[in-house]
Amino acid sequence: MVVRIAIRADLCFSCGLCYVLAPRVYSHDEEGRAVVREEYRAGSPYEGLAPDELVDEAVRGMMTCPIKAIDVSSE
Ligand code: SF4
Repeated sequence: MVVRIAIRADLCFSCGLCYVLAPRVYSHDEEGRAVVREEYRAGSPYEGLAPDELVDEAVRGMMTCPIKAIDVSSE
C-alpha cells in the first residue's frame, strides 16, 4: 500500500513533533516547518507518497501533530 501525505504549511507552527518522531518521512524547511522528505515528495515539499514500509511512520507523524496539519490517506 502507498499512502498520500499532505501537509498544511499554512497551519504548521514548526513545533517539530512530526519530524522528530517520524524522521524517515518528515523533515523541515529553513523555518522549521514540516515538509515531506525529498525522496518521497510528489509535487511540492508539502505533498508526498510514502511506500508500504513507511506507512506506520507517516501515520505516526499525522497523529502526533497537535493541530492536525498533516493528512495521510490511502491512494
Ligand atoms: S507536528 Fe504539525 S505543527 Fe508540528 S512541525 Fe509537524 S506539521 Fe508542523
